[in-house]
Amino acid sequence: MGQDLHEKISILSGAAKYDASCATSGSEGFRGKGGKKFGTSLPMGVCHSWTQDGRCVSLLKVLYSNVCKYDCAYCVNRASADIKRASFTIQELVDLTCEFYRRNYIEGLFLSSGIFADPDIVMEKLIETAKTLRTESGYGGYIHLKLIPGTGEKMIREAGKWADRLSVNIELPTEKSLQCLAPEKSGKVILGAMNDFSGISREIEEDRSNPKFLQHGKTKAPFFAPAGQSTQLIVGATGENDRQIINLTSSLYNKFSLKRVYYSAFIHPGSYAHNEKLTDPRLPESAGPPLVREHRLYQADWLLRFYHFNSGEILSEDEPFLDAHIDPKTAWALKNLDFFPIEINSADYETLLRIPGIGAKTARRVLETRRSRSISLDGLRRMGAVLKRARFFLTAGGSYAERPDDPARIRRLLSDTDGAGLQLPLFEF
Ligand code: SF4
Repeated sequence: MGQDLHEKISILSGAAKYDASCATSGSEGFRGKGGKKFGTSLPMGVCHSWTQDGRCVSLLKVLYSNVCKYDCAYCVNRASADIKRASFTIQELVDLTCEFYRRNYIEGLFLSSGIFADPDIVMEKLIETAKTLRTESGYGGYIHLKLIPGTGEKMIREAGKWADRLSVNIELPTEKSLQCLAPEKSGKVILGAMNDFSGISREIEEDRSNPKFLQHGKTKAPFFAPAGQSTQLIVGATGENDRQIINLTSSLYNKFSLKRVYYSAFIHPGSYAHNEKLTDPRLPESAGPPLVREHRLYQADWLLRFYHFNSGEILSEDEPFLDAHIDPKTAWALKNLDFFPIEINSADYETLLRIPGIGAKTARRVLETRRSRSISLDGLRRMGAVLKRARFFLTAGGSYAERPDDPARIRRLLSDTDGAGLQLPLFEF
């Protein structure tokens, strides 16, 4: 018996829920009508996501199909799972997206799929959906398409014409783990897709800025995924340490100019699908998703992207795990007390960023304000610094707020064993 649309949405939005790699960021390319608000009572399949500047947006997050030939142990949609299966048609997805967009339920679409056929055939369906939205429905919202591992360079090029962002999930930190939990996937193929993306992106960027291109009667080189590429990595399903993860992240940012690496604390598929049959001997026993670890990895990632740390400064061979009780920037500061205090009235931008409790926004304000006057501790607080953390590591006009005489005490004061500190905003820690 055929499924109605409501049932398909229920199945295919539930199946997409655990892919974290869909926060929008950095693209205004196709957006014409975004920014409108709507109530909190959202229809099925709509999830909240955050832009790079902290704005909350809503996306329709669905799979084209949850039929999959692959058997990744961590995935609820794997071939051997005894679950309800469904697939949209292209027109159903186009109509649904337009309808939700017109009603202001969503500002964008996140579309992925199980691998129900050859990767290029699956990719074609995703591309066709995005292309129809753009060319026939006049849809101007955000589109994030998942790249199906194994899809060719030509398909990636085509997908980038219609989507704001593309992503291919790296899934696990090492090839060995991939072979164990997702044997049909290959790190080489996944990295190859990222490499293809960055090659095409560079080439189109050069074309778009090349005046000769315009002289040859062409208007502009085609658009290519202006919000770049991202990836997702599952944390805690395999035995790698945080150092391996952060080293990998750092090299992905450097080699492929990724916009974001998303970390997803491992959730046992049996527990989120409430289906005991989804147990798998290859998976670890799990007391629950390692959320603190996931949060610390996001903070460490922030240090790489915005605070100019390199991965070797964050973790060492001797201490390969992030401290669960203290954020990685404070942990680094406590290990490097001889780097402090930093005088806020003379330090350069990079040095200011090393102070726990001072983020990029505050550091910029400090530099601006210093042009006309010197800054006191009170002034620093008003600029957004979190003095509870910063006070041990700086001087203002030569005066300490508090001398860092007792690192163990500072550690105690700044630790968040109760989890409260996990609410720290990422941008000012
Ligand atoms: S390829 Fe693996 S992760 Fe993706 S849907 Fe299929 S089983 Fe799940």
